[in-house]
Amino acid sequence: MLPDLTEALQRRKQENLYRTRPILEGPQAPHITIDGQNFLAFCSNDYLGLANHPALIAAATEGAQRYGVGAGASHLISGHSRAHHALEIALADYVGLARALLFSTGYMANMAVVTALVGREDTIFADRLNHASLNDAALLSRARFLRYPHLDLAALEKQLKTTQTRRKLVITDAVFSMDGDQAPIADLLALCQRFDAWLLLDDAHGFGVLDAQGRGSLYAHQEVDRTAPHLIYMATLGKAAGVSGAFVAASASVIETLIQHGRTYGYTTAAAPLLAHTLLTSLQLIKQDSWRREHLKQLITQLRQALQSLPWQLLPSNTPIQPLLVGENQQTMQLDQALRARGIWVPAIRPPTVPRGMARLRISLSAAHTEADVTQLSAALHELAGVLA
Ligand SMILES: *Cc1c(COP(=O)(O)O)cnc(C)c1O
Repeated sequence: MLPDLTEALQRRKQENLYRTRPILEGPQAPHITIDGQNFLAFCSNDYLGLANHPALIAAATEGAQRYGVGAGASHLISGHSRAHHALEIALADYVGLARALLFSTGYMANMAVVTALVGREDTIFADRLNHASLNDAALLSRARFLRYPHLDLAALEKQLKTTQTRRKLVITDAVFSMDGDQAPIADLLALCQRFDAWLLLDDAHGFGVLDAQGRGSLYAHQEVDRTAPHLIYMATLGKAAGVSGAFVAASASVIETLIQHGRTYGYTTAAAPLLAHTLLTSLQLIKQDSWRREHLKQLITQLRQALQSLPWQLLPSNTPIQPLLVGENQQTMQLDQALRARGIWVPAIRPPTVPRGMARLRISLSAAHTEADVTQLSAALHELAGVLA
């Protein structure tokens, strides 16, 4: 095996696909220190700037004093603390669904939902640009796995119409993680209802950000029937919420099924209760600080206007994910390196995370950025366009 691995690693380097991990000193913020050098960064999913908020740090400290640092067991044994329970109730209430269930990560939440609800006799319908965790969950479930072209509801309808199966589950990102565009949730939900299919919505990038109160994609679109019994909502708590973890919100029957059969729920140690305790404060800030979302909106508008005349195209998006499509891996990496030389960090996203020939810089904005930060990025990109494009 060793020669194989060495050769595969070498090939990955040649194709400009080799991944390395920058080491960050200190907290997540717009200005970060990597390997002793300061950067203005546009690479975190800390969309509201909560990851280093003093109120959350205080809550984490209080949580540690109250609950210690480790849960010590799975939720089903003795790891389900008062803090976890209170957070589940608060989250269900916030998104307006009957029940919510906490998971340690969004990846694990998707695994649990898909594998607990569908199996060999069932069919999954998935948008082609879904997050890897949804695809992995689909494969693990052993259900038939049909993918439809990105946002193509006509194609999905055809698949739903012609598929005979015990259960049907449609899975989609609500906000697509590498593109920043959004699924037409109301139409999807109506389509699912027509064909007696379930809908799993992954709102990792919408929760906290979309809707005036940050309640996410279910509230950001008109005419979403949130009472639809076949709706399952998933959101993560390590992005806009600034901490870590995820939750699934749905009807009581679905949540109880996940508690009984969710393997990534039952067979893992519960996340530290101090995180749930911290997230209760985070949820307060998400609700109350609407100025963070308003500021973020202004930054998005500013960035899109400033980058209009670049030779590279900004993909259509009104979320904090603003991908600048470059195309080939090599030029994307050149641009990435040239920005770094100017003290700016924007992650290059390459295949297989995105399709071949669609490599990009994934600019992500945060409410912690200032107008001047966006101006600095835009000036650097314009300067580099003269040199590289
Ligand atoms: C980040 C992400 C996940 C995984 O969430 P984690 O909590 O980081 O494991 C799932 N789905 C989407 C769309 C994501 O962007």
